[in-house]
Amino acid sequence: MTDAPQYGFDTLQIHAGARPDPATGARQTPIYQTTAYVFRDAEHAAALFNLQEVGYIYSRLTNPTVAVLQERMATLEGGVGAVCCSSGHAAQIMALFPLMAPGRNVVASTRLYGGTLTQFSQTIKRFGWSAKFVDFDDLDAVRAAVDEDTRAIFGESIANPGGYVTDIPALAEITDAAGIPLIIDNTSATPYLCRPIDQGATLVVHSMTKYLTGNGTVTGGAIVDSGTFDWSASDKFPSLSQPEPAYHGLKFHETFGPLAFTFHGIAVGLRDLGMTLNPQAAHYTLMGIETLSLRMQRHCENAQKVAEWLEADPRIDAVTYAGLASSPYHDRAERLYPKGTGGLFTVALKGGYDACIRFVDSLELFSHVANLGDTRSLVIHSASTTHRQLTPEQQEAAGAGPSVVRISIGTEDADDLIRDLDQALAKAGA
Ligand SMILES: *Cc1c(COP(=O)(O)O)cnc(C)c1O
Repeated sequence: MTDAPQYGFDTLQIHAGARPDPATGARQTPIYQTTAYVFRDAEHAAALFNLQEVGYIYSRLTNPTVAVLQERMATLEGGVGAVCCSSGHAAQIMALFPLMAPGRNVVASTRLYGGTLTQFSQTIKRFGWSAKFVDFDDLDAVRAAVDEDTRAIFGESIANPGGYVTDIPALAEITDAAGIPLIIDNTSATPYLCRPIDQGATLVVHSMTKYLTGNGTVTGGAIVDSGTFDWSASDKFPSLSQPEPAYHGLKFHETFGPLAFTFHGIAVGLRDLGMTLNPQAAHYTLMGIETLSLRMQRHCENAQKVAEWLEADPRIDAVTYAGLASSPYHDRAERLYPKGTGGLFTVALKGGYDACIRFVDSLELFSHVANLGDTRSLVIHSASTTHRQLTPEQQEAAGAGPSVVRISIGTEDADDLIRDLDQALAKAGA
């Protein structure tokens, strides 16, 4: 498709990046299940390896099915390029990799997906990187946390477990003043509900495992680059602005301009870290994205109905959903997330930890799983599962205390979901 940006979201989610297969005319994007690609001749091979010509070499780096997904993700997010990889967590490492070095840090929100809190507070230390966790509602604290070694600010647009929506424009002011990139994990919002780049973000990361694929079939991740950051404005980002020793001295920013981050992600990131998305998974995700807006509308509608019903129930202590008038983030949500705040929220049960366990064990239609963003409705008791590795303080800060159950509302009939919640609450004896 040429001139893609003139089309609306519903059109782009089906067409962006795709064209009939040049070899066969196949209308649907074929699954190019191949490891390697035949070079026209030795000169062609050399040009590809020198990045003088763009093309396919080996599927750890690039693959035509994955390339369609990359272009679709870049288009839907309003970026210049995207790199797909094997999971959301891979995308986070791939996003930080060109920016960080031993001794450098990232300033991150206290309200993040549990696995991300663990990755940032523990695992990245092995690389000599560190994270400073700050309450992103305290903008002075965010500003104060940024120091000479900070190389990015990282938050989630609609935070998982739920109920928190981030003021991206306010954070973008801080990163712009500091000359560092703003990275937004847009997994729970998807580009249908939020386009972080339009609000000032530099990079957007995704777990495509969730709403983008939409039916719990694959793991996948993506990093979308806005193309707007000047990597050469300071000496903070030598991998992008200085000769890259892992690519025989190539200067990525000078050579590729706004596509520097994307090219580095493929030519160095995927080449050397190997966190590649396979073409079969890319296919499932492409199929899912075709109906993204339709599903997100229903997820939001159902979540609103169910959250309102739960909030009115005497067995429930609190419901944190930014779509509720009672939410402290309701006004921010209306301003920055006008199409809705997604299908995720948490409920606190009056009966505490034990009632939560009985509740999740009594649900019939909802599945108790460590996933979200599925067409099926899902629940998880975060404190005993996804947030188990965290301290009680970290659990509370992340909105995942012991009496809290995270709910991911699917696209079923809302009345059926409410009936199931009702009977499980009765059995929980909360
Ligand atoms: C699931 C999730 C991740 C991690 O993604 P994986 O695909 O499971 O690696 C990161 N961030 C958020 C917000 C998520 O929901």
